[in-house]
Amino acid sequence: AALDFCQAHPGTINNRKGGGMGNTLLHQAAFWGVDAGTLETLKELGANPDLRNAEGQTPAEMAEAHGRVHTAAAFAAVFGEEDPVARLRLLRAAKVGDFAQVVQILRAQPHLVHTQSLAGWTVLHQACYHGCGCQFLRRLLALGACPALRDANGQTCWEVLRERFPEHQALATLIQDTAVVTASLAAGSRVTVGLAHATLVGEVTRVGPGGVTVVTEDGQSHECAAWRVLPTKELAEVDEEDIGARCLICDAPTTQLWVLGRACQGEPHPMCGECTVNFLWSQYPLNLPLKCSQCKQEVDLDNLPQRLLWHLTDVWPPGGTQCPITSQSLFEFIEAVKTKTAERRDAAGVEALLELLATCGPTTAAIKYCNLSGCPSVRACPHCGILIEYESQCKHMTCVACNTTFCFICLRLRNEHDGGRYNWSISHACPIAPLQTEIPGQG
Ligand SMILES: [Zn+2]
Ligand SMILES: [Zn+2]
Ligand SMILES: [Zn+2]
Ligand SMILES: [Zn+2]
Ligand SMILES: [Zn+2]
Repeated sequence: AALDFCQAHPGTINNRKGGGMGNTLLHQAAFWGVDAGTLETLKELGANPDLRNAEGQTPAEMAEAHGRVHTAAAFAAVFGEEDPVARLRLLRAAKVGDFAQVVQILRAQPHLVHTQSLAGWTVLHQACYHGCGCQFLRRLLALGACPALRDANGQTCWEVLRERFPEHQALATLIQDTAVVTASLAAGSRVTVGLAHATLVGEVTRVGPGGVTVVTEDGQSHECAAWRVLPTKELAEVDEEDIGARCLICDAPTTQLWVLGRACQGEPHPMCGECTVNFLWSQYPLNLPLKCSQCKQEVDLDNLPQRLLWHLTDVWPPGGTQCPITSQSLFEFIEAVKTKTAERRDAAGVEALLELLATCGPTTAAIKYCNLSGCPSVRACPHCGILIEYESQCKHMTCVACNTTFCFICLRLRNEHDGGRYNWSISHACPIAPLQTEIPGQG
């Protein structure tokens, strides 16, 4: 009976039983010692084997503690050792706004859809936090993501959305018509069913209160939870070039010519406007330079495809159809990304120079005429910062870039030599200035 309830109410599968023990349905299954078949069913429903009860036990550990040897073994067989890793990858991808990867993971392992972080955040919470478009939120719901799950503070994903983006369209439409997702199923519908181990393609023969019967090409019939069943939408046949493809993230129709950068490689990987806006925004400012979500080629911001710009302008907030995740216009955003990327490159460059200075080691030969060993072999010009490596000259060094003459040993200019410990004479060994830890003339 508990299983039937969970079939009909996706997301309740990981709820804790009352009584303060913090046990989930899987814990109870472990306690009673169920077989692999029951665990398969629970996995199919999205049960998370990594949740710990009040005593800190996972269901598998509980099975072992109660001497349910077969059940403990079944846990390992059904959920596999990679399960916690896959869940971590999913949550990380969602956290950084990489929803292309989220969808990729959920397609391969649909049972991960209810995964919650330690703080209780689900993929839906993250999608709301990032202000994803209605199309993508609808897609997640269709994949079985449950909007009723609460985080450690008791917040549902919709509450996160309301707090972050009070004007988001989903607040007006999606919350009410969550039921819409499966309402379109009827006998005869062509559907795709995402199961833990496979994706089925077939036709609906029955829609009942407990679930949906789907018959696949080979004539086999499958009983599926309704929220696992996605209607296969026919692609519009108008304007092949302009529609004719589906967004890899939210499955909405988009153009086949949709590429993020001119350097995109491999199979086409189109995204719709909403998902592209969210992706771009999630990458800024931490994940620069901007790279394609799929093929990881750097996006050429000076040569964005015209068609991409048109579609982006349509949805870019404010003014576009996308919710106001940013107050920058598209072109302000592109300029900001370029500036930040250049700053990043400069910072990376300075770091590389400092690394070189720190690891250059002493000169291989003693400094000529003053016969001094142990002086660092690379110095930054005290005026312009360019790096100069000692070869075989005297200590008087003239920078080829700015023409400044300085002492390679003490790094002082000629007039900064006092004639005592610091003597400009080539035969005098000045005190060795320590390794430079800053590049002169930079910021
Ligand atoms: Zn999309
Ligand atoms: Zn690409
Ligand atoms: Zn000299
Ligand atoms: Zn210089
Ligand atoms: Zn000197």
